[in-house]
Amino acid sequence: MRIALLCVPWLFAPSVARADIVDAAPPVVEVAPGQSVLSLTPYLQLFVDHDHALSADAPNPAALAHRLTPLNREAANFGFSDAAYWVAFTLRNPTDRDLPLVIRQDYPLMDHLDFWAPAGEGGWHHVRTGDHQPFDSRPLALRDYVFPITLPAQSLQTYYLRFASAGSINIGLSVSSQQAYLPRLGLEQLLYGIYYGGFLVLVLYNLFLFLALRDTAYAFYMGYSICCGLFFAVLNGFAFQFFWPDFPWLANRALLLALGLTLTFAIQFARLICNVKRLAPRVDRFCGLLRYGTITLTVLAPFVDYATMTEIFSAAALIVSLTSLSVGAVSVWRGSVSARYFLIAWITLMWTVVMYVFKTFGLLPHNAITHNAFQVGALIEMVLLSLALGARVGEIQRQGHTDQLTGLFNRRHFDELLAKEFSQATRDETPLSLVVLDLDHFKAINDRLGHARGDEALRAVGQLASRLVRKPAVACRYGGEEFAVLLPGCDKPVATKIADRLLNAVAKIDCDGVPLSVSIGVASYENGNFTSAIQLFEAADSALYMAKEGGRNKVVTSPDGETSSQLAASLF
Ligand code: GH3
Ligand code: MG
Ligand code: MG
Repeated sequence: MRIALLCVPWLFAPSVARADIVDAAPPVVEVAPGQSVLSLTPYLQLFVDHDHALSADAPNPAALAHRLTPLNREAANFGFSDAAYWVAFTLRNPTDRDLPLVIRQDYPLMDHLDFWAPAGEGGWHHVRTGDHQPFDSRPLALRDYVFPITLPAQSLQTYYLRFASAGSINIGLSVSSQQAYLPRLGLEQLLYGIYYGGFLVLVLYNLFLFLALRDTAYAFYMGYSICCGLFFAVLNGFAFQFFWPDFPWLANRALLLALGLTLTFAIQFARLICNVKRLAPRVDRFCGLLRYGTITLTVLAPFVDYATMTEIFSAAALIVSLTSLSVGAVSVWRGSVSARYFLIAWITLMWTVVMYVFKTFGLLPHNAITHNAFQVGALIEMVLLSLALGARVGEIQRQGHTDQLTGLFNRRHFDELLAKEFSQATRDETPLSLVVLDLDHFKAINDRLGHARGDEALRAVGQLASRLVRKPAVACRYGGEEFAVLLPGCDKPVATKIADRLLNAVAKIDCDGVPLSVSIGVASYENGNFTSAIQLFEAADSALYMAKEGGRNKVVTSPDGETSSQLAASLF
């Protein structure tokens, strides 16, 4: 979107057609009953009125006939220009019936558009419209300009139009029978409905998530997709039709306003989802300034010359796009999953924009895909950004449940899991075992080898614990040098066997020649021997305490259903 807009000024820039003067008779379009949609571009006659010598109120546009020359161009796009563009085309009806036809101008953002059709006896029917007039100046209430005409039987008639605009002058005229035009219009409306429906679904879906999660990233996402959808609604002429039909002032400024807001939300969203503040604080400060820049531009947009503003906005759009791609890439490099979606989203959009630009340069054919890819690309971008948000929630949750040093689950996760598994075990009447480990004399190991080597030893024990147990068993780092392994479905003999295996495996860890050992406590819930998860934990913890008391480097299994005090009493 941004790049395409950027390209608008210089793609169609003032290399205005200076059609060679050809003395041939003007080409005539012969219209058939049921005429399919036919582009009028090859049949256009053009006069560029640079100093507005001719009045748009001309009672007889045919007076300029001698100034018209064939257009001789494949596309009638003239970029930004102060001139008024007069065009004419001639239709012939060779049949004996009057033919009801429609003339369509497919680019809605035209400031001034005048249309003259012969009205019999040398008179003219004049329609004055364009988006500087209220919406109801159009003959038909449609997003672009559609002029219904009747071409009398056996007649040859010339029609005139005048285009003038502060934006780019894109003349896209076609003629068709009503039978051909209406089904096409129906299909087009359906596709646009699906398109904007897609935006609406994304906004509503993320609104509900925002209400549930209260994460600002969702608010920025909604702002971004609403403004982006609005940008395309303005570009396609729907916003003027449905949102502000009586406010041409707004209709002419809404495109840049929507773009300014889109860019502002895009930066804010990128900052949050890519965690720029933490990963690259300097880039984050730049993003903060960029945001103030786009806000300032948005506020100024309605009051500054449109062509100048479009160029400034295009530069801003390019900077925002490159910044987003860069922060996305850095964030992916640092391992963020949500940033992967973010980066793919931006690459998708850029790719469709490049396709659009290539089409505009004539390097790709003009067809439905190359013409609409960029709009569709923006919607796909929104879908991918929504996935990025989903991944972010997962990431945040995982971070809150993961121990940074060992990568195992942390104590918070263990506490939640223990309560859950205990109630599951009591409900299903299945066994549940708990193994708790504590490294022996770890303080001394830290003192001898240093904290860093101590960390490595902890990591090694963590890896070992997660390697030795399989789902549904879960290993967690419970605290400093304490680990817990939860074994759903395991009875006491199996749990004890696993504990023995852990004990032996830890002894084999090479810790710079210093012997490493653990003390292990095991407790099992079976046949309702404990009434709460806390009791089960206390039993395992007491068994661990006994293992320490009993000389360390050993496994102690808690007797059935006995809690700490009972166990202590039985041992001493
Ligand atoms: P015991 O056999 O009785 O368990 O003796 P201990 O020294 O292991 O027990 P204590 O609880 O007195 O000390 C635990 C030590 O574990 C103290 C602390 O420095 C160390 N520790 C806790 N967390 C970490 C960590 O994340 N990294 C490192 N390197 N050491 C840690
Ligand atoms: Mg210890
Ligand atoms: Mg300890």
